[in-house]
Amino acid sequence: MSRNLKTGVMYPRMAVIGCGLIGSSVIHAARAAGVVGDVAVADASAEHRARIQELGYADLVTADPAEAVKDADLVVLAVPVLAMSGALAQAAPALKPGATVTDVGSVKSAVAEVLTPLIPDGVFLVPGHPIAGTEYSGPDAGFAELFQNRWVILTPLSREDDPYLEAAQQLVDFWRALGANVDRMDDKHHDLVLAVTSHLPHLIAYNIVGTAADLEEVTQAEVMKYSAGGFRDFTRIAASDPTMWRDIFLANKDAVLEILGRFTEDLQALSRAIRWGEGDKLFELFTRTRAIRRGIVAAGQETPEANFGRDHRTP
Ligand code: NAP
Repeated sequence: MSRNLKTGVMYPRMAVIGCGLIGSSVIHAARAAGVVGDVAVADASAEHRARIQELGYADLVTADPAEAVKDADLVVLAVPVLAMSGALAQAAPALKPGATVTDVGSVKSAVAEVLTPLIPDGVFLVPGHPIAGTEYSGPDAGFAELFQNRWVILTPLSREDDPYLEAAQQLVDFWRALGANVDRMDDKHHDLVLAVTSHLPHLIAYNIVGTAADLEEVTQAEVMKYSAGGFRDFTRIAASDPTMWRDIFLANKDAVLEILGRFTEDLQALSRAIRWGEGDKLFELFTRTRAIRRGIVAAGQETPEANFGRDHRTP
């Protein structure tokens, strides 16, 4: 039976492994919603640990994932995608029977594959991904409203036993209490959807900013000065954390290459239309894409309220 989370503490003790933008936002949002009791944090960075102590939002701060997860009812893995298995391997021996382990990684299939064998019997792994973020990193970057009205995709394992279903439902309720909308999805489908909506756009941004930086005919000063013409938005996306994005592309290789292939074909078609002066083709595409943008706004995923004056994107 799932508890009604808004009425009180759902997880008396929560452990967060990796306390950067997402980990610290989970802590702020869970504390604001009153759904967790004690919070323990493990982070590999001594500098970050010192800063978390200073900010005072965790009850225990340690370098040791096993120490953090001891007695925890909910464990949130919030490290870069390729660091997930190492973090869980360290924590696993200390996991409490009955605990739920989730992650916030931007790639789901590869992460589930490496985490599943590390989970002890009696512990429930329910992978997840909050579709919310900013280009900022580290323990100072988090804020309680990050997940408000954003989507969280959970990709539960294919298990039908009651204890597992209850644990998954409790995690759904947890994210809802943090202000998020929750969807469940097959992990491979998640990876394909995110390859289109997030991973490819980031790849394009990294590429175009790199191309502009390498152009010999255009000076760096001109790139900065005239960046309002679309380029500025790409530079914001291309400022995203290099470790995180390296891991995403390596872990979601198949889906990204699949979508990149489609994208390249469509780009070739556009290039032909420009070369042959086929304005109607360009006009038709630009009209369709404008309608998509309006649909996103209508779905409430791009409003000043949803953004809280900050820049939210979807890694
Ligand atoms: P972040 O701000 O860089 O925070 C990650 C933290 O984990 C850092 O303090 C990092 O320390 C620490 N860390 C790295 N490896 C560790 C390990 N093995 N054990 C313990 N701590 C470790 O990253 P983030 O943006 O919060 O992203 C975390 C996860 O959320 C990633 O899997 C990402 O794919 C996912 N995600 C991110 C966003 C986004 O917009 N940023 C959105 C949705 C999901 P160092 O800095 O010293 O390495």
